[in-house]
Amino acid sequence: MNTKLQALVALQDLDLMIREAKDPEQATREEELGFPLSGVDKLERTRDRLAKQIDEQLLQRYERMSRRFTRVVVPVEGRVCLGCFMGLPTATRRNIDPGTVEHCENCGRILYRL
Ligand SMILES: [Zn+2]
Repeated sequence: MNTKLQALVALQDLDLMIREAKDPEQATREEELGFPLSGVDKLERTRDRLAKQIDEQLLQRYERMSRRFTRVVVPVEGRVCLGCFMGLPTATRRNIDPGTVEHCENCGRILYRL
């Protein structure tokens, strides 16, 4: 996986963790399990640090899309986007070079290959 995407996938994970931790219902449950709420600060600090390593354009796209989707960065299996389960046109496959970031032409999610 290209490193740009690796950082973005990690950032997405943190975002999901932060969202869960802030969800009151979820938070109560996690707290019972021993997840301290102060942990959110730590998550947010790590997220900020990670965000600095990500391409500004890519990050902006991610932020924009994360309002629409829970998961913006999704894997591709074969030629199927695992965000919307639509097959990708072959052209998308052909144009890959390790430095480019692919998007699903159907749902617009950012794709990565496993
Ligand atoms: Zn898709």
